[in-house]
Amino acid sequence: IEGGVEALEVLTPEEFEKSRGATVRVQHRVVALEPSKGRLVVESLIHRSRHDEAFDRFILATGARARRLGVDGEAAPGVFSLRGLEDAAALKTWLDTEPVRHVVVEGGGFEGLEMAEAMRDRAIRATILDTRGRVLGLDIADPMIAPMHEAMRARGVHVRAEQVTAIETEATGRVRAVRTNQGELIGCQAVIVAIGIEPRTALAESAGVHLGETGAIAVDDAMRTNVRTVWACGDVIEVPRVVDGNAVHWPLAPIGRRTARVAARNAAGARPADRFTGVTPSVAVRAFGIEAAHAGLSLDEARASGFDAEAIMVQHWSRVKMVPGSKPLHVRYVVEQGSGRLLGGELVGAEGAALRANVLVPWIRAGTTVREIAEEMDLVYNPPIAPATDPLRIAAAKAMRSVKGAGR
Ligand SMILES: Cc1cc2nc3c(=O)[nH]c(=O)nc-3n(C[C@H](O)[C@H](O)[C@H](O)COP(=O)(O)OP(=O)(O)OC[C@H]3O[C@@H](n4cnc5c(N)ncnc54)[C@H](O)[C@@H]3O)c2cc1C
Repeated sequence: IEGGVEALEVLTPEEFEKSRGATVRVQHRVVALEPSKGRLVVESLIHRSRHDEAFDRFILATGARARRLGVDGEAAPGVFSLRGLEDAAALKTWLDTEPVRHVVVEGGGFEGLEMAEAMRDRAIRATILDTRGRVLGLDIADPMIAPMHEAMRARGVHVRAEQVTAIETEATGRVRAVRTNQGELIGCQAVIVAIGIEPRTALAESAGVHLGETGAIAVDDAMRTNVRTVWACGDVIEVPRVVDGNAVHWPLAPIGRRTARVAARNAAGARPADRFTGVTPSVAVRAFGIEAAHAGLSLDEARASGFDAEAIMVQHWSRVKMVPGSKPLHVRYVVEQGSGRLLGGELVGAEGAALRANVLVPWIRAGTTVREIAEEMDLVYNPPIAPATDPLRIAAAKAMRSVKGAGR
């Protein structure tokens, strides 16, 4: 949206064929998959023709699609959701060529937040609608979100606890306003729908491949589906979460790469089979000059999984406080009572939040306790980089004092 969409294409189909020795057919869609016959039907989107292909083994990597609002007017020119580079290019063209003064962003998750910031960077007014009346509601707890909201307000971006119920258009068909469930009519010249994604499972289902409880494809730890000759990977599958073993749909690139590698090796006949060892969910965003990051379980998720969990929160500094540029850093831990095991963590601040979440990932995965973090982890100290006692250890020390049984 800020320009340079073309530079994001890292590998052309031709380069991929040359460097990897695989045949690539873009503009072709698999329209039917018949594992029992080892046959699939491919449609050329250019020639509108169909032909059969034979296969021994098949890897489903059909990804996910943007969730739709399902309201009148959603197909109007000026309504966008972002899934691929083409979507970003189409939005950019719209902003470059239409007199856009105000954009409504439906959904205050990571994508909605980034889109609102991109609009402000182009001096376009942006309003976020989110039923929770706040941003990042799935990943950052209520007491932690204030710095992000303050930074947004300073740039004139407001979050309204509303939901689009219809999109209204001009006589030309272009979007002119949204109607909300609060009966409001909000004028705008573009709408960005950022309400999450859903796995693209139709092809899998038509081939008899089972879905799991999240609605994504169920696979075993070798990425094998219930159909003997079919594996699956990426955004279309669900994966087990390390901390509690629950299946989650966690459609992000690092998981896509890990599961793709396992699926590819096993479909190619790896002996012994390559195994996927589960996911420790982690996400981060930087918008409006604030970083927000989350790793592991939220308090609600931990309790829903049966953990007797508590949350603690501290505010400390990104570097030694006196050093110019040091910024407040908020840390929240979700800790199991009794064992003191770290189950999840969130960080929010103008610097030093996102990459500290990376430190939490191996701790959460390994079942590290807050006592071990507070007393045994030698985190870096250098005044312009980090305080003598890192905020991650300060938070652990607080958890030792205030979470039942965690001080042992
Ligand atoms: C705007 C945006 C920002 C993102 N930012 C991040 C980020 O910062 N960090 C991060 O970790 N992840 C991010 N992601 C997520 C990341 O892009 C996905 O996790 C990753 O692309 C998943 O890869 P995949 O191959 O499973 O699916 P996809 O990349 O969706 O690829 C699936 C492909 O299959 C094709 N396909 C589907 N059905 C058929 C069919 N029947 N026949 C032939 N082809 C078919 C589709 O056209 C598509 O090209 C972002 C995603 C979006 C949309």
